[in-house]
Amino acid sequence: MTCKGILGVDVGGTNIKAALVFGRKIERRTKILSMAHAGIRRSIEQLKSVIEPFRQEICCIGIGIAGIIDSKNGVVIFSPNLKGWNNVPLTEYLHSEFNVPIRVLNDVNAICLGEWKYGAAQGCDNVFLFTLGTGVGGAAICEGRLLFGANGFAGEFGHTTVNPKGPKCICGHYGHLERYVGAEYIVARAKRKMKRQKSSLTRQDALTPEIIAREARQGDAVARQTFAEVGYYIGVGVANILALFDPEIVVISGGIARAGKLLFAPVRDTARRLVLGAEHRRYKIVPARLGDDAGILGAALFAQSRGKPTEIS
Ligand SMILES: [Zn+2]
Repeated sequence: MTCKGILGVDVGGTNIKAALVFGRKIERRTKILSMAHAGIRRSIEQLKSVIEPFRQEICCIGIGIAGIIDSKNGVVIFSPNLKGWNNVPLTEYLHSEFNVPIRVLNDVNAICLGEWKYGAAQGCDNVFLFTLGTGVGGAAICEGRLLFGANGFAGEFGHTTVNPKGPKCICGHYGHLERYVGAEYIVARAKRKMKRQKSSLTRQDALTPEIIAREARQGDAVARQTFAEVGYYIGVGVANILALFDPEIVVISGGIARAGKLLFAPVRDTARRLVLGAEHRRYKIVPARLGDDAGILGAALFAQSRGKPTEIS
């Protein structure tokens, strides 16, 4: 069979996105609202309906999903976005319908692969990427290989401890990074400050990290302090990453990464201050480049790597 295009799919809590991919070129896209709470059967039907229009044009399918994924066997062990998805043999379900090779991986791993091959981390062998959004995810490329870990849990940056006596995280443990820099906690931090200080943020209807970043650029003191503190906590996390993996590049992905200097200055400063042997290290901390396309391109890349679950060549 001659290789046609590859279908890259990104299954999120809000949307299911798919696109026909040729190399780094995205040709046709589709997006539907995800029925994440409708149960496994309904979600699988939805996925099939997204794939169906591409059936004649694809030679394989790569699917990125949030959660713990057994990529070797194509099983979704657990997904926080999809209600009831525990140990779901996804590739088996889909293969009977589409009869092309199908591979599944964690969504942040997909973003990391995309940025590695086509985006901010091109040409690097040791990469750490993390996503800042409602949740905080992470993924690592070590010595030119995507790191899965013994249980498929590798790279869970948001659930590393930055303060053992800190507040309770959504996962039940205390003082995890996500509890400090996840979107809703950034907003909560700003709101606490607004009670004590005058701020232009009080004029906003609904606060988001993006709005806080915008007001910080306009000079609002509360917004600026909020970003300085958030940057500090991310910097603590990045210093840990540098110490553990020694990457040549740390890529920050997600909406908040667009805050620019406001975020990157305190992150870079803190990481430099805290990491062992800073003066001997060469590394960069940079924003992601591909935006939403990274996950689709990465899933498509992964689909091509059949037979080599830990390698993309
Ligand atoms: Zn946690």
